Amino acid sequence: MSLVVYNTMSRHKEEFRPREEGKVFMYVCGPTVYNYIHVGNGRAYLVFDVIRRYLSYKGYEVFYVQNFTDVDDKIINRANEEGKAPEEIARHYEAAFLEDMRGLNILPPDIAPRATETIPRMIEMIRGLVDKGYAYAVDGDVFFRVESFAGYGKLSGRSLDEMRAGERVEVDERKANPMDFALWKASKPGEPAWESPWGKGRPGWHIECSAMSLHYLGMGFDIHGGGQDLVFPHHENEIAQSEAFAGSEPFVRYWLHNGFVNIQEEKMSKSLGNIILVREILKRYPADAVRLLALQTHYRNPIDFGPEALDEARRAYERLENCLFALDAFLAKPPDMTAPQRTQREVELSDSCFDFERRFEEAMDDDFNTARAIGVIFELVKELNTYLDEQELYQTPAAPMVASHGRDVLLKLCNILGLFSPAQRERESREAVVREETGPSAESLIELLLEVRAVAREGKQFATADLIRTRLRELGIRVDDLREGQRWKYVGPPA
Ligand code: AMP
Ligand code: ZN
Repeated sequence: MSLVVYNTMSRHKEEFRPREEGKVFMYVCGPTVYNYIHVGNGRAYLVFDVIRRYLSYKGYEVFYVQNFTDVDDKIINRANEEGKAPEEIARHYEAAFLEDMRGLNILPPDIAPRATETIPRMIEMIRGLVDKGYAYAVDGDVFFRVESFAGYGKLSGRSLDEMRAGERVEVDERKANPMDFALWKASKPGEPAWESPWGKGRPGWHIECSAMSLHYLGMGFDIHGGGQDLVFPHHENEIAQSEAFAGSEPFVRYWLHNGFVNIQEEKMSKSLGNIILVREILKRYPADAVRLLALQTHYRNPIDFGPEALDEARRAYERLENCLFALDAFLAKPPDMTAPQRTQREVELSDSCFDFERRFEEAMDDDFNTARAIGVIFELVKELNTYLDEQELYQTPAAPMVASHGRDVLLKLCNILGLFSPAQRERESREAVVREETGPSAESLIELLLEVRAVAREGKQFATADLIRTRLRELGIRVDDLREGQRWKYVGPPA
């Protein structure tokens, strides 16, 4: 099956053909490290995490680069506000970003270059652009001359006149065209600065990404990603600089952009003051519920974010979890060898598992349609639950094979999307072990309470049983009475 992807450049879905057979070179614009990331930012990294995971699943060797913008006006302003060095701010939020990525179970990039460690490459590019007449220096600043690059506007589909009408650009007498943008900025006293042919200064944001992506991936790499707000001017400018410098095109084969996370139909953004931090959400919801919320919408469509959507995603996550739990409990029981060999449903279920895999892949091959792919996963869950309900009386001799096949397929499809990932489970259990070493763990005490509760229920002491359940819920622990027994999980204190 062939993969098609929507290319922002052509505004069409195109068959995905990478530069080198079997390999994918991709670059995603990383964070400007001056604050904690919000769930809109989180969505961008999550979308590209899933795209990367799926490409690996398809058999591609993926090489993924994602930068840190660690020199920027915003970082300098923040440092001034807090009376700290810009570097201190950048390192703090870089570490926080890595923590949030781990929290969301996003795989780390193969290379995560810092802008400040790639400055010589940027200076080399800017010098090349000046030499070729694409850029000019004024008072220690260097600007890109947009009119010199014939293809300017091809990504955003806007002419220079339209851009001028659409953007509020500050009047700067020194620029040949108001849309000309800075490649290099002369530094003010006390700001981070590097020596350059134009005096002491620092790079502009756009040139950072061009220099870092070209350095690690070379011209014509496969995928460049980011949120839709980066199409213009950031990615438009990256194309102009890179293609003008290289004297060839394309800079990038496929441009992919994720849709926004909105709050009441407005983009979540720091400037609007409507942000919710990834780290706050992760205190109250499991990472997989957050991943499900993001992936239940196609990556190019907007998501309306709010408590209802989160609770719904948590319930969806629990449906998956319950199904896996019930399958495990079922598989732990011995089959009844006197029962019929296998039922008609078992024959059908075994066959349909392959069909579920095929339909999942078809959805993902269609421009990474995770929304449809998750729909397929939930259809499989429904089939498996119906099967388990029917098997309540006895297990056929074929049941262990049928149930474990279903379980394997379910987990496999979830894992491709980074859900129920073994790495995440291992991390969680390691954290639990660390807690064990310091005394009886909370987990073991909860298990003890549940044992007492089970005894109370057997003795029809329902008031005691209910008291234990209510008190645990107040502590943020929810107990469910399932057919297989009691199950608890930490869901956070009641709202
Ligand atoms: P920034 O730090 O603003 O450059 O954003 C980091 C990444 O998050 C970029 O790819 C942005 O396009 C993306 N992004 C920012 N805000 C949102 C949002 N509300 N929804 C989705 N993606 C966003
Ligand atoms: Zn970038």
